[in-house]
Amino acid sequence: MFKENVRIAKPGVRPVYRNKPLQEHVDDSYKSRGKLPEPALCPQCGAVYQEGRWRWLPKPAQAHEAVCPACHRIRDDAAAGYLRLEGEFFTSHRREILNLVRHVEEREKAEHPLQRIMMISEETGAVSITTTDAHLARSIGEAIRHAHQGHLEVRFGQDENLARVYWKR
Ligand SMILES: [Zn+2]
Repeated sequence: MFKENVRIAKPGVRPVYRNKPLQEHVDDSYKSRGKLPEPALCPQCGAVYQEGRWRWLPKPAQAHEAVCPACHRIRDDAAAGYLRLEGEFFTSHRREILNLVRHVEEREKAEHPLQRIMMISEETGAVSITTTDAHLARSIGEAIRHAHQGHLEVRFGQDENLARVYWKR
């Protein structure tokens, strides 16, 4: 059950109140922090779990094998971030904005292996994006607003494992 807990990510970002419940994937199995033997290596993407977090490191000589939370979410098609972009401005700047989306993902993923785009679904006049981490969806929304203004809504689930982000211009 989703409990209303609206976070204002930045001054100028309006909180949203909607009745539509967020679909939650807050299964603890996606949070491996503190439970894994170290070092652990994700056989899917090569991320290494060490010192309590997943990082991009050279492959350890000896490592336990563990699917990282991002690959786990991708495998289960269980997104943590939902982002929707739409509007006339979006339609006429689609390519530029989607390039920015990819750029933010590259930047975030380089530092944080668990922040990845899962899927980009193109529609007429809109695009829907899912991410493996709630904060990546917010970062992308904030980057678009910073570059192109428009209206941004960011809504988090109660434990920040889920975000729904909406941008329109
Ligand atoms: Zn992985």
